[in-house]
Amino acid sequence: MNTILTGDLFLQAKETVATDTIKFNFTFDNLKTLTGEAVENNFVFTPGQFVSLGFTETAWRAYSIASTPEEQTIELMIRIVPGGIGSEALNAAKLGDKFPFKGPFGHFQLSSTPDAHLVFCATGTGIAPFRAMIKTEAAQSHPRKMTLLYGGKNADDLAYLEEANSWSDHLTVKLGLSRDPDLKIPENLKCDAAHCRITTLLEPFNKDEKVEFYLCGNGAMVKSVQEILAEKGFEKNAIFMERFN
Ligand SMILES: Cc1cc2nc3c(=O)[nH]c(=O)nc-3n(C[C@H](O)[C@H](O)[C@H](O)COP(=O)(O)OP(=O)(O)OC[C@H]3O[C@@H](n4cnc5c(N)ncnc54)[C@H](O)[C@@H]3O)c2cc1C
Repeated sequence: MNTILTGDLFLQAKETVATDTIKFNFTFDNLKTLTGEAVENNFVFTPGQFVSLGFTETAWRAYSIASTPEEQTIELMIRIVPGGIGSEALNAAKLGDKFPFKGPFGHFQLSSTPDAHLVFCATGTGIAPFRAMIKTEAAQSHPRKMTLLYGGKNADDLAYLEEANSWSDHLTVKLGLSRDPDLKIPENLKCDAAHCRITTLLEPFNKDEKVEFYLCGNGAMVKSVQEILAEKGFEKNAIFMERFN
């Protein structure tokens, strides 16, 4: 269990990387325990966990950490929701701006099941924790087989699309583009793309394989994927999820 700390995040870089989606990089400082004791400036978290950022005294929002612990920066991938308290504040943020934060929180993390095929299912910014998880698995001495099923309306919706190709040699990327029958994706990408929803990409998996599913994104997607996996006979203990709403 990682110790929950409070501190400040300082904005170092900000880049629009997909439709309504901004990548933020922060450094952290002024770390303290919840009882107010100052601690060394080392933020320990497990890939898959999230931080909570404060925008007003009562408005705190959760964001999955996309960076790995080794990167010693906090990278967040955030969809800007018009009128949203956190969204508006982050959209307007300038380099050097400071946000109070708490964390790490959450139990969404990689299993240690030997030889399991790890299948990550993401829509939208649900990709964020998978960057940290996949890169961490890739750095193990014997990385497990990994597949990323990634859905959006079209390729412009998908953050990390090009970067995902370099996360691991053990990773296969499959895209479900629900509103792009022409499947327009950058030419250099090594991935399969189909004109479908992410749920269709589950068809090849069957319960006789040793597969674990990691689901992250909006509640509707997570629920649909969960229902399909239950119909296919996958056990609940092979399904891990993080819902954003
Ligand atoms: C564990 C966890 C991890 C999360 N990680 C991420 C992450 O990595 N990246 C990320 O972008 N978000 C993430 N979220 C969602 C995030 O915490 C906020 O809920 C979201 O960014 C909206 O906050 P806001 O303050 O901008 O909008 P609010 O002020 O909370 O909401 C404004 C309006 O927008 C609506 N709304 C809220 N969310 C959405 C949405 N997703 N789509 C459409 N309308 C919406 C609300 O119903 C409300 O009407 C995560 C949530 C959880 C619980």
